[in-house]
Amino acid sequence: MKAITQSQERKFRGLAAACCILGLWMSGCDATRTKQTDSGGQNKPKVVSTSTMITDWTQQVGGDEIQLKGILKPGADPHVYEPVPADSQALEEADLIVYNGYNLEPGLIKLMNSSGVKAKKFAVGEVVKPLDFEYKGKRVPDPHVWGDAKNAIAMVNAIRDRLIELSPEDRQKFTENAARLTDELKRVDTWITKEIQTIPENQRKLVTTHDAFQYYSRAYGIPVAGTLIGISTEEQPSAQTVKTLSDSVKKAGVRSIFAETTINPALIKTVAEEAGVKIAPRQLYSDSIGAPDSEGDTYVKMLVANTRTIVEALGGKYSTFEPAEKPEKTQ
Ligand SMILES: [Zn+2]
Repeated sequence: MKAITQSQERKFRGLAAACCILGLWMSGCDATRTKQTDSGGQNKPKVVSTSTMITDWTQQVGGDEIQLKGILKPGADPHVYEPVPADSQALEEADLIVYNGYNLEPGLIKLMNSSGVKAKKFAVGEVVKPLDFEYKGKRVPDPHVWGDAKNAIAMVNAIRDRLIELSPEDRQKFTENAARLTDELKRVDTWITKEIQTIPENQRKLVTTHDAFQYYSRAYGIPVAGTLIGISTEEQPSAQTVKTLSDSVKKAGVRSIFAETTINPALIKTVAEEAGVKIAPRQLYSDSIGAPDSEGDTYVKMLVANTRTIVEALGGKYSTFEPAEKPEKTQ
């Protein structure tokens, strides 16, 4: 795993360097874009984001006008992420930190609230009214708000407003970028609703490793029939928990259950074996978008890939999502 990550990171850096060179070259052709001419963009506002979903939205809205660092890498689990020294440095140098909140990323929230961090902090997930969840005897807000594309629209607009506060001169750019992204989110939201309806009603049952799909479930009409662990991945299921879930999977006549890209699939495989049901051939992207060049490498593609995985495994009829046409290039 580590070797793959490192090679992907090298590739990513190479690409970033190439973009940088191209950016400099282009800025030379356009005297009005003064911000582009400072090499490395030192004068651009420094924004740090935590989860990969937030990084994707912030990148798409902020475009070239901000210097963005996303802390979590694709595939990393935000619940148990342990910050590294480079994260402290990024947080200390930031002008704005956009994080999920509702305790999705406890390690980073703790670090962010340490004394050296002077940046403005914005819990973008907390613009969404949370669903509650019982955890260790208490009601806690469920942090997995991105499961509903309508919540993503609210979050994208909130990011746009924070970026405008940070850099008012770029208002128009941020507004246009956010409008383009929210159009795409509305389209994918409608598409998911239709796709889920192709699953025969008695087979619309979602069983996953951890409880990350409540918002998706409510938004698109597919009940969560069971999860092995709760809204955080810190807990380890007991043998009894595995047995209880596999019994209820058997009883509910669930056709297929799902592993997730951010969690070891061994746990849910045990449930599948005990219940005698299939594990869907493709894993769900629960708490992270996919690695670059994977089918889930943006937030929208993550929703599309998850919906395809669910529809195909539960007997629905999948039809491809058509992304909006790119604006035509003018010569
Ligand atoms: Zn989670």
